[in-house]
Amino acid sequence: MKINKIRAAGFAACLALLLPGCASTAELSGTAQLFAMDTVMLITAYGGRYEAGLDAAEAVISDLDAKFTPNGAASDIHAINEGAGASVPVSEDTLNVLSAASEWYRSSNGAFDPTTYPLTRLWGFDTDNPGVPSADRLSETLKHVGFSAVSYGDGEASIPEGYGLDFGAIAKGYASEKAVRAMRDAGADAGIVSLGGNVEAFGTKPDGSLWSVAVQDPVDTGSYVGKLFIPGGAVVTSGNYQRYFTQNGVRYCHIIDPGTGYPVRNGLLSVTIVCENGTKADALSTALFVMGEGGALRYYRDNGGFEMVIITDDGRVVVTPGVSGSFEESGEGWTYAYPDAQ
Ligand code: ADP
Ligand code: MG
Repeated sequence: MKINKIRAAGFAACLALLLPGCASTAELSGTAQLFAMDTVMLITAYGGRYEAGLDAAEAVISDLDAKFTPNGAASDIHAINEGAGASVPVSEDTLNVLSAASEWYRSSNGAFDPTTYPLTRLWGFDTDNPGVPSADRLSETLKHVGFSAVSYGDGEASIPEGYGLDFGAIAKGYASEKAVRAMRDAGADAGIVSLGGNVEAFGTKPDGSLWSVAVQDPVDTGSYVGKLFIPGGAVVTSGNYQRYFTQNGVRYCHIIDPGTGYPVRNGLLSVTIVCENGTKADALSTALFVMGEGGALRYYRDNGGFEMVIITDDGRVVVTPGVSGSFEESGEGWTYAYPDAQ
């Protein structure tokens, strides 16, 4: 649902435009802000066709928001959950996300699992009143979790009764990837989307500089521990500080370990993934957050194909070799570590 929309146009390099003969459509840019997928989203497009780029990205995001929201008449996810036990017709986008989810579910050994929805509901993360459930209800609910029980294909999808599907850990990544593609197809020269912590960029900015993406400080969220400079691609963070509740002095975050049914508590504050596309970055940021520091570094060494910044609750910021040269430290009170590739 879109509750606000703000547009601002501008010139990326105004000074150049004051000089006769220097004006260039490549220097035009515009920014749009909208609220979708439960978060504030910012889109910036560059070039003569920036306006068409913004329109295209907004249209993509609104459409995916409607398809993936847990509630709503037009939502595929709602239809699948309401129709549990039978096949329901779904869109191409939903099939694409199910197919990507299946790949990351397998690759992460079940750490990434969009069928954690019954657990999310049991813990009350979808309400204003979350709390620790009883051990009995937890073990009962765990019986209805496991992505291998999801069927999809030929325009349809289904889950068994008692199961539930939720694209919360991958929808914004898929949306950023598709929005960036739409901007490019609409003729924008370059652009960047920031969908509540999911950033994806393409093309070269008019001044030729790299895209800079801040890695948020999980303790002092108004600040950041450093900046990544990337030529394009996705930067996505999963952390325990965005959504959580505290009970008896223990913090319970919204990312759930599908193996135990408990919110993840493993010494990590956040995992930021850097890779070529948003869908992969979003799925991996959640999966590697579940795996913990040791598991995430092992997965990195075994699989590769992405880079990351891990922040731990004992004050360390661990930056993998492929982005160590593109990372600028800026936090106070953090220890920075740059492990070698092995
Ligand atoms: P954010 O939504 O803050 O960007 P994530 O991308 O990590 O963070 O997504 C977390 C959301 O995904 C949760 O709010 C929940 O809806 C769902 N979820 C929770 N645990 C898992 C998991 N292990 N695998 C897949 N989805 C999950
Ligand atoms: Mg994610």
